[in-house]
Amino acid sequence: MPPSPDQIIRPEILALSAYHVPPASGMVKLDAMENPYSLPQALRDEIAQLAADAPLNRYPDASAVSLKARLQEALSVPAGMDVMLGNGSDEIIQIIALAAARPGAVLLSVEPAFVMFRMIATFAGMGYAGVPLKADFSLDLDAMLAAITQHQPTVIFLAYPNNPTGNLFDAAAVSRIIEAAPGIVVIDEAYHAFADASFMNKLTQYPNLLLMRTLSKLGLAGLRLGLLIGRPEWLIQLEKLRLPYNVGVVTQLIAEKVLQHPDILLQQAAAIKAERAALSSCLRALDGIEIFPSDANFILLRVDEADQVFQGLKQHGILIKNLDGSHPLLKNCLRVTVGTPDENVQFLAALQASLKQPIN
Ligand code: PMP
Repeated sequence: MPPSPDQIIRPEILALSAYHVPPASGMVKLDAMENPYSLPQALRDEIAQLAADAPLNRYPDASAVSLKARLQEALSVPAGMDVMLGNGSDEIIQIIALAAARPGAVLLSVEPAFVMFRMIATFAGMGYAGVPLKADFSLDLDAMLAAITQHQPTVIFLAYPNNPTGNLFDAAAVSRIIEAAPGIVVIDEAYHAFADASFMNKLTQYPNLLLMRTLSKLGLAGLRLGLLIGRPEWLIQLEKLRLPYNVGVVTQLIAEKVLQHPDILLQQAAAIKAERAALSSCLRALDGIEIFPSDANFILLRVDEADQVFQGLKQHGILIKNLDGSHPLLKNCLRVTVGTPDENVQFLAALQASLKQPIN
């Protein structure tokens, strides 16, 4: 008898649901925090040439020396800190969890948070503890400190700004957590480009702090490039788990090329921030919705009947994220990525129509 999956696969994996990516073909795609803008034509032409000339028969530079140097400069990485690259920051979360999965170890985060923190803890065979945020999605510092004492987590992940809520946690509270943590604290700054705050300058102060960034939300989600910044003593260990060629030739070449023009991505981020403000004020003017403040490129809102509004939007060709049911604090919550002005107008019109639909 050949083995069945439930005889071979770990029970906690059998119990997991796969990360769901809904089909989006033909839809206005406002579900995944992508930058809606493409790159200028001249830069796209340069990229086309780079791709044409890329040595695809060769493995990529395993240590990506040139790209890392460009990133260190573009992101103003403090002197003395190293950079590790991942195939998206998802992969970096996985590397950290695999490395810290000592027997009985716990990964601690907040709830609701980026779902991959919990999923990847499970992949890595770690325990997971999620401390609920307060109803306004701010950090519950007392509960976090109590959970740290109770679980002695080897790793704490905090997204700053947080996904799916969009807010920045109180920086002093985050610092208290870093100081109280017996293990490492990873501040995930995936949405940094849309916020005016960072823990980058705290890296030198806190020996147990690591900082994660990604190019995904900045406009290069398709490239898959994330990075971890931290002290060499941590990164030397984590590098042992990074598969040697995790960042491909084409990703390295294109990322480096685009980063030669940091102004382009920053201008796009500024445009998205301006649209976020415009979209927020239009949403605030509507009856029947609660809007939560955002320092990210998406907005969390609460309606009376999230499922109905989500389906109504879908019928109008607009795809957003329905968070209802994912956590008690997210009851009737929807998350919309800030799109182009035109996409946002389409979203608002479809939203108004969907809010008005009778409940059946
Ligand atoms: N961190 C946070 C907080 C996110 O929301 C996401 C993507 N949704 C990621 C990390 C992963 O991003 P990527 O793998 O594209 O770098």
